Amino acid sequence: MAQIIDGKKIAADVRAQVAAEVQRLVSENGLKPGLAVVLVGEDPASKVYVKNKAQQTVEVGMNSWEHRLPAETSEADVLALVDKLNNDPACHGILVQLPLPKHINSEKVLNSINPDKDVDGFHPVNVGRLWVGERALVPCTPTGSVILAKTVAPSLAGLNAVVIGRSNIVGKPVAALLLRENCTVTVAHSRTKDLAGVVKGADLVVAAVGIPEMVRGDWIKPGAIVIDVGINRITGPDGKGKLVGDVNYAECEKVAGAITPVPGGVGPMTIACLLRNAAQAAAMQNNLKSAFA
Ligand code: NDP
Repeated sequence: MAQIIDGKKIAADVRAQVAAEVQRLVSENGLKPGLAVVLVGEDPASKVYVKNKAQQTVEVGMNSWEHRLPAETSEADVLALVDKLNNDPACHGILVQLPLPKHINSEKVLNSINPDKDVDGFHPVNVGRLWVGERALVPCTPTGSVILAKTVAPSLAGLNAVVIGRSNIVGKPVAALLLRENCTVTVAHSRTKDLAGVVKGADLVVAAVGIPEMVRGDWIKPGAIVIDVGINRITGPDGKGKLVGDVNYAECEKVAGAITPVPGGVGPMTIACLLRNAAQAAAMQNNLKSAFA
């Protein structure tokens, strides 16, 4: 049976590290990090995310601002708000909650965020900084996935890692981070031939596909670390809705050395790593050393 990697507990540890870092920045430098979240429209899931983010931001001792704009807000007005936040020295991190309403060009809005305040790490400048090995703000879910893997294998150096999925939000940044950890990285995707065979060679598997329970137990090398990024809502045999990952947990936990559950694995790490990025951004903007990069 695999060791279960407890994302809830590890996320709480990360939040405690962020709280300690915030306290240090306040006491040593009089610098209180601040994170602004912009929500346009009434998407119910987004409202819950934004509320959770704001609550956890305050809990670690940072300033939190929520900017809730009506769904019909023009693109120009959203860009004007981002510009205002870019120029506000008290605001160190800006997060624009996706999805944005259809009449707003998300790419244009995300690219208008000052890269040094881009706590989501999606700006092309941060993507470039990550790949060339400069100090970057790195996307939160990938950072969380690698932190989880390192709790069971503090050095990932030399491991054969297979990342399933090549999105800009998850797959590609996970691959960049694992390369930085000196893994030998393979990025698999929808055109990969013999995916099961490719995964079978992996000491570390990160699944970020969006297909419920796609990764089967007989794909996994005995003892491998399995990180399941997937969040899929399906209807269980009892007719009730439930969340499952991209990994068939029941099968894979019998073979893997360590595995993340869904829920309670990668999911809780995302907001914790967002707070980490906000603390890092505040330090970077003030030319201070950071506990995180
Ligand atoms: P995307 O849909 O953007 O990307 C999915 C990737 O999976 C693509 O690269 C695609 O390949 C690949 N893929 C699709 N089908 C197959 C297949 N049959 N075999 C191999 N690869 C395949 O998804 P995201 O990266 O945004 O998200 C992935 C999962 O992670 C989702 O379940 C999402 O809900 C979850 N997620 C969880 C987060 C968290 O906080 N825990 C945050 C973000 C995402 P191709 O490029 O060839 O099309």
